[in-house]
Amino acid sequence: MIHYQSTRGSKYIKTSAQAIIAGIAEDKGLYVPNEIPALPFEIDEMVGKPYKDVAFAIIKAFFEDFTDEELQACIDGAYDSKFEAEEIVPVTEAGDAYFLELYHGKTAAFKDMALSILPYLLTTAMNKEKEDSKICILTATSGDTGKAALEGFANVPGTEIIVFYPNKGVSEVQERQMVTQEGDNTHVFAINGNFDDAQTAVKKIFNDDAFAEKLSEIGCKLSSANSINIGRLVPQVAYYVYGYIKLVERGVIESGDEINITVPTGNFGNILAAYYAGRMGIPVKKFICASNENKVLTDFIMTGTYNTNREFFMTNSPSMDILISSNLERLLYHLNDGDSEEICQLMDSLEKEKKYKVCPKIQYRLDDFYGGYADMERTNQAIGNMYERHGYLMDTHTAVGYRVYKDYVAYTGDKTPNLIASTASAYKFAGSVAHSIGMGDEKDGFAYIKALAEKTGVPVPAGLQDLDKKEIRHKGVVDPAEMKDAVIGCLK
Ligand SMILES: *Cc1c(COP(=O)(O)O)cnc(C)c1O
Repeated sequence: MIHYQSTRGSKYIKTSAQAIIAGIAEDKGLYVPNEIPALPFEIDEMVGKPYKDVAFAIIKAFFEDFTDEELQACIDGAYDSKFEAEEIVPVTEAGDAYFLELYHGKTAAFKDMALSILPYLLTTAMNKEKEDSKICILTATSGDTGKAALEGFANVPGTEIIVFYPNKGVSEVQERQMVTQEGDNTHVFAINGNFDDAQTAVKKIFNDDAFAEKLSEIGCKLSSANSINIGRLVPQVAYYVYGYIKLVERGVIESGDEINITVPTGNFGNILAAYYAGRMGIPVKKFICASNENKVLTDFIMTGTYNTNREFFMTNSPSMDILISSNLERLLYHLNDGDSEEICQLMDSLEKEKKYKVCPKIQYRLDDFYGGYADMERTNQAIGNMYERHGYLMDTHTAVGYRVYKDYVAYTGDKTPNLIASTASAYKFAGSVAHSIGMGDEKDGFAYIKALAEKTGVPVPAGLQDLDKKEIRHKGVVDPAEMKDAVIGCLK
């Protein structure tokens, strides 16, 4: 049976249920499967099958300790009419690329794909493990995780959800989505700092034994909805496999042919899921890792040196304004054949010197990845050109991916069919998108949504309609140093 172990070598191994409850390992590492399972089916067998069937088979291959009934219930609960697209993940062709549209869930970003199932996986895991503490989900967000986690966990019995977002570091629409969240167990705070400050502070809280002790006295246990939780990563593998099957179904490729996969990347979770799909047996030639001006990953893939000693930029693709990409640790572990000693050294160096350099073996194996970046100007141009030529509307994050994909093709001449992770609805970043397609100024983010809908006729996702009329329920602003007190305050 597949089990889960820490990237940093702790000797404790866990079932998937235990790893999902824990979130992060006791040695601060991330849980990884001891092996990546092979595809549990032949591609041709799955052609024409609905998304839920693919998701079931893929997740089951990783989470073997869940019974078929348990897992099916999780999947049925997650991928239902909450999604505005019947196929859950439509694949749309535009401008020489295939867009894997991951944003048709409740919060209009790809985070819904995993966060609509995580609460089911977690509560099922708690039952399996006879866990009777209350689970407190603690999450740092660059904008989209927070809302998707709130939506997923709102009113789920036995849980509290607390979200920290960078004050002024998320879009107006993203912020309003979070602060209007309903539910008796939901808590939202702005923190004075950027996403990395929020994420670092949350990780510190997870690693604070005395604090864990204090929480256990009031019957609570921390867990994470960030992509450090393996329960979030694994459901994401399913859509890449599904996307490949769709390309076969449409006759774009034959089963066995290679594709490229482009992912606009921040915390490295989504692209790592693509890599897992590749390791399972989906033939992928290149994983194209696209960044905005915060191009720490582009430089890393090119040089093998990960260096966060650099200026931090606030861009119009805020969910990728990240310098410390947590899930990279998992990739390094796999590329290093599970040798955790070196991973510990690298992560130590990252903490102390804010940078590290990988060994030649890892650097050589990074060759499966291509790293590129697009600044705001080129990203906005990509949105404008795409809309003008093909009538297809991309959000700013997806556009970073598309721009970098186009650069890759220009640079390599590689015409392999390309699947691009389309990570958000254009309406989530309506102001930037509207300007990019030549529209004028509006008074706020909500007015942009309206104007963009009038101009393009693309339907506005239900979750973004009338956002400005909803009651603001969460107003807290804290410093990173006050986060622990804020957590206690929510749980008392
Ligand atoms: C979170 C997010 C990303 C980055 O995904 P990672 O898994 O953190 O790399 C990209 N685009 C959007 C819209 C997002 O919400």
